[in-house]
Amino acid sequence: MSQRLSRRDFMKTGAAAGVGLALPRDVEATAPAVIVRRSRPVVVSSRNGHVYRHDGTLTCVETVFQEMTGGTDILDSVLEGVKINELDPGDASVGYGGLPNGDGVVQLDASCMHGPRKQAGSVACLEGVRTPSFVARAVMANTDHHLLVGPDAQRFARNMGFTIEDDLNSDDSRDRWLEWRRRIDPSRWPGEEDRERIGFLSGMEMVEEGLIDAEHYWGTINCNAVNSQGEVAGCTTTSGLAWKIPGRVGDSPILGAGLYVDGEVGAAGSTGRGEANLFNLTSFLIVENMRRGMSPLDAGMEGLRRIRDNTVERRLLDEEGNPSFNVRFYVVNREGEYAGVTLRGEGEYAVCTENGPEFAPFEALL
Ligand code: ASP
Repeated sequence: MSQRLSRRDFMKTGAAAGVGLALPRDVEATAPAVIVRRSRPVVVSSRNGHVYRHDGTLTCVETVFQEMTGGTDILDSVLEGVKINELDPGDASVGYGGLPNGDGVVQLDASCMHGPRKQAGSVACLEGVRTPSFVARAVMANTDHHLLVGPDAQRFARNMGFTIEDDLNSDDSRDRWLEWRRRIDPSRWPGEEDRERIGFLSGMEMVEEGLIDAEHYWGTINCNAVNSQGEVAGCTTTSGLAWKIPGRVGDSPILGAGLYVDGEVGAAGSTGRGEANLFNLTSFLIVENMRRGMSPLDAGMEGLRRIRDNTVERRLLDEEGNPSFNVRFYVVNREGEYAGVTLRGEGEYAVCTENGPEFAPFEALL
């Protein structure tokens, strides 16, 4: 089980100086000031992975843990978990009830990767199917391709036997979209650039006023798991950025951007501003960093540094010249070492080990 001491706390307590801290059996210091969280089997996910239950008793991370320790295939276990978030309208960042695009249409992105089989599948801009992660798996299992998009992805899903619905809005997601539309005054749209800016600011206002949880304005679920044999799989599924331009595809369905799994190494997946991961292919970068010997924590931090260094447009920077947006990564290697890292601020991610589920604090770059 992980212990709750963050790298920062570890430094503060003086434990980094080696003052006789008795570490639990699955936590060890690999170098001064570096904590490695380790447990196998293990499931890591974004925080919403231990929030929603969709009429059941278990959350996503609990479900994945139970499935994989019961002998279910590693990727099938992950999908059984994320399905809970996809089906639960309370999670307005994923699947049914996900916040819609700028035209009020819920468009979903998802990808999944199977470490041992070295297989992957994705869908983007998929409308009408509550569980895009399962359509992504169907792409993986039934085609020679990795990514299907838009109406053709929906046609594929229909052919595979998925139920297609006209509208995936819940009453709540529709109300919030209407509120967003109401706030945008067409007289304030003199040009495309301002239109985009004002749309973004109106969304941010709603976050600040508590009408939308920031985790749902961006929001997604990424979940990665390692079983007792060291098999790794992962899935990222999302309704994407709230009020996005119709047709916008984020990082979640793009292999290497919002998810990457290498069965020989580990997995990394992301939530937050997808454009940063599309530019930097950060999930792939993090897994590559682990391949070269970095711990999940160091590999994740290096990924965040790459994003920071490649963010130079003024509109994306705060007063101190740092990225004004956030991106988070959930990282695990096949030995069961894991970490959650965030570009900015604090927060926590979800973990489930043989000691049960818990929230663990992110390590922050800024
Ligand atoms: N990263 C995803 C995207 O950009 C969703 C999110 O977490 O906001 O579409």
